[in-house]
Amino acid sequence: MQPVRYQGVSSSILDAIGDTPLLEVEGVFAKLEFLNPSGSIKARIARYMIERAEQAGMLRPGDTIVEATSGNTGNALAMVAAVKGYRMLVVMPEGLSSERVAISRAFGAEVLFCGNFHVNAALDRARELGRQPGHFCPSQFESEWNIEENRQVLGQEILRQLPDGRLPDALVLGVGTGGTLVGVGQAFRAVNPRVRLFAMEPSESSTILCGEIGTHDIEGISDGFVPGIFQRNAGLVDEVLTVSSDDAIASMRHLARAHGLLCGPSSGAHLLAAKRVRERFKELATVVTAFCDEGEKYLHEYFIQPQPAAVGPAHFG
Ligand code: PMP
Repeated sequence: MQPVRYQGVSSSILDAIGDTPLLEVEGVFAKLEFLNPSGSIKARIARYMIERAEQAGMLRPGDTIVEATSGNTGNALAMVAAVKGYRMLVVMPEGLSSERVAISRAFGAEVLFCGNFHVNAALDRARELGRQPGHFCPSQFESEWNIEENRQVLGQEILRQLPDGRLPDALVLGVGTGGTLVGVGQAFRAVNPRVRLFAMEPSESSTILCGEIGTHDIEGISDGFVPGIFQRNAGLVDEVLTVSSDDAIASMRHLARAHGLLCGPSSGAHLLAAKRVRERFKELATVVTAFCDEGEKYLHEYFIQPQPAAVGPAHFG
């Protein structure tokens, strides 16, 4: 029997953020971040950035939170705003999964569309709106608080969970804001200076590696620019890997069928990239990644049609 995770009574859903399981899957370790309330890893930084802003006096009762997002941070901030009683304005591009829009609206947020697919135009608009009195823009793509949560909370959780006192040899993560890669990467470097950090981006939109901005299907990463967090910390990263959208989607479907993990495309891409690192560098035994958002957000796009019967062994790529 596993120990019971929650004991006693919580006063809010925000208490259920974090402490997600670490799963060993196909030879790599994956933090199951899609199990967070609001369905993604972004619940962590949403609560953290809002509570830090409250402590700093930058956010007061009755204020409006405004943020640019490709969706998951919008969903997470909308949840936090609902719990804490703030007005929430999500600024996002068109062309992303309709579930992301619906979830923010379900939490009572207003959704403002700006630009198409990439987040650049939404970013400018959110910044502008954030300068109005009574408005606060967390600026996830720039925020040191984003990095801080990942270093001090998520990174420490993973270090505690790795079995038999093992230290991480490698971290493989896609770059949306870069907060997870940089923050968790800093936590890992502090205990193992030789840990290898791999950034992952879609091969159709290899912005960090090739300066190329293209459309792709790995929602949540490669948003159309290299974010400030990544630029400031690029020296930490050892290598940038690419995964194609088609391979990411196939790997995402495989996660559901072979392991019962209903996650989004970035999780599929993370599994594939982490396994490639594990295979390429035999000396890197403990490779860590994360499954960042739930597959429910992509039901209409990828799962609603009957799929061909699953055949073959539970291994992919
Ligand atoms: N995967 C998904 C599904 C995401 O929504 C995000 C964040 N936008 C990431 C990966 C990347 O996380 P980060 O912003 O910390 O780079």
